[in-house]
Amino acid sequence: MGKNEIYDIAIIGAGPAGLTAGIYAARAGLKCVVTEKASVGGLASTTSDIENYPGFRHTDGFSLCYTMLEQCKDAGAEFVFENVVSLDTVETVKKLSLANGDSLLAKSVIVTTGASPQKTGVRGEEEFRGRGVSYCATCDGAFFKGKTVAVIGGGNTAVIDALYLEKLAAEAILVTRSDKLSADKILADRLLSSNVRIVWNSSVNSLSGGDKLTEMTLKDIKNGILTDVSVDGVFIAIGKTPNSVWLKNIRLDARGYIVTDENMRTNIDGVYAAGDVRSKSLRQIVTACADGATAADSAAKYLMQSK
Ligand SMILES: Cc1cc2nc3c(=O)[nH]c(=O)nc-3n(C[C@H](O)[C@H](O)[C@H](O)COP(=O)(O)OP(=O)(O)OC[C@H]3O[C@@H](n4cnc5c(N)ncnc54)[C@H](O)[C@@H]3O)c2cc1C
Repeated sequence: MGKNEIYDIAIIGAGPAGLTAGIYAARAGLKCVVTEKASVGGLASTTSDIENYPGFRHTDGFSLCYTMLEQCKDAGAEFVFENVVSLDTVETVKKLSLANGDSLLAKSVIVTTGASPQKTGVRGEEEFRGRGVSYCATCDGAFFKGKTVAVIGGGNTAVIDALYLEKLAAEAILVTRSDKLSADKILADRLLSSNVRIVWNSSVNSLSGGDKLTEMTLKDIKNGILTDVSVDGVFIAIGKTPNSVWLKNIRLDARGYIVTDENMRTNIDGVYAAGDVRSKSLRQIVTACADGATAADSAAKYLMQSK
């Protein structure tokens, strides 16, 4: 990385979206740098069981993303392991400022910084993550076929997750702090007429078990009474935070996700977004990869036109 070097494409975040964008950009012969503030693979690398990524009956997130990293390096992408703290898009050449004081210059930028699931912070949540505690029903629901599962939350995601899990699990429970659901009426009505058992006015107090999660303790918000409930899986659906707050001038939707068109273009010329950080309906590895490939292709076309 030379001090005044100008990259064709700078990619912010090395999860599945960023790594795929890197593979496509570097294979197109573009000078490309991928930045990562934590560990390669993003959220995907934190899960040990993936059964819905086509071509693999079963894999773990770390192996899958490590292979993507190798593919990306083989194609010629460079890596910089630093947090990008700001992105200046005023000039045609964009400037990424890094936490260590350095900066990177690039003619185009792809933002692939993902979204972080919000945590309850209760005892046992971290300990049983991946051993009964999950933040993604679409990803992990199938591991709980015929078992008892609970969803924590009362919004759209929680209700959709509970209805999805009801079809797979022997029993699905939804735990909500309120005495009504905050989900859209159509979803709430569907849940109320389903077999999902709703525990109202309650919060999860702690999660416990041995090798795996076996029990959740619920607290009645009105009277403080604690109740132990046997469960195999707890799905926490209390919201996600898109990693976009640090971006200036890029159009976000009401929940903070980056708005793009179908070619991953943002409102700023030469700036693209891909993966979980963008406004879309399905946040999965396969859709993150597809977005990453599309964003790199769009950036390549933009570079060609602006020559
Ligand atoms: C528990 C769990 C299990 C899952 N299981 C599955 C599954 O089985 N199948 C499936 O398809 N999907 C699964 N998912 C969803 C999947 O992990 C995500 O959809 C996917 O990882 C999104 O990829 P991404 O590249 O958009 O974002 P991420 O994977 O979140 O990657 C974003 C990356 O950007 C980095 N970053 C953020 N900000 C900055 C910055 N300012 N500077 C530099 N780097 C930055 C982060 O450190 C991170 O590495 C699961 C998710 C969870 C939480």
